[in-house]
Amino acid sequence: MAKVVYVDQEECTSCGVCIDELPEVFEFDDNDLSRVHNPNGASEEKIQEVMDMCPVECIHWKE
Ligand code: SF4
Repeated sequence: MAKVVYVDQEECTSCGVCIDELPEVFEFDDNDLSRVHNPNGASEEKIQEVMDMCPVECIHWKE
């Protein structure tokens, strides 16, 4: 089964890095926390790159 990206919002600090890097996948919700609006908006490689940039490492794969 394909991996699906998600954000653990309990940990998100609203820094905006993932949204700046990959607006095709991430967006701010009404509480200014990041959420995934399109898990298929980028390649796994690109999503992994952004995952590694999150300062609190709260972007994960659900397998
Ligand atoms: S990079 Fe991480 S902490 Fe920053 S907005 Fe995205 S999910 Fe939240």
